[in-house]
Amino acid sequence: MKEDRAAGTKVLQFKVRSGGTIVIDVDRCLGCETQACVKVCTIQGGPLVLDGERQVPSLRWSLSEIERGGCVECLGCELDCELYGKRAVHIELPLPGFDAYLSTAAESLVYQIDRGGQCQS
Ligand code: SF4
Ligand code: SF4
Repeated sequence: MKEDRAAGTKVLQFKVRSGGTIVIDVDRCLGCETQACVKVCTIQGGPLVLDGERQVPSLRWSLSEIERGGCVECLGCELDCELYGKRAVHIELPLPGFDAYLSTAAESLVYQIDRGGQCQS
């Protein structure tokens, strides 16, 4: 686990095959009752497992194994944490051409959910 000393928080951070990065703010996970990220990742055959001692997500493979394809980049951990957990997961994936595609759309295709649960375009 990598420690973010500047912010004083602990994060679980790993690279994935596409060149993207997954970051889990493990401090937020303390007290999470669902561990939804681990459940969906297990279904996908991915790298997240539960640290039995702290009851927070951990990795079952090395960083290099995960970067070689251990994470299938399904985005399930971020989505299910948003829906059922404590909004601790952030995924950034390179999407070549995506911004150009969005600029051609007639209306906004990007939505954000604010902290009050409202959907905004
Ligand atoms: S669902 Fe979210 S808050 Fe809960 S353990 Fe997983 S990453 Fe942490
Ligand atoms: S993106 Fe999918 S496979 Fe990768 S860590 Fe998240 S749930 Fe697991």
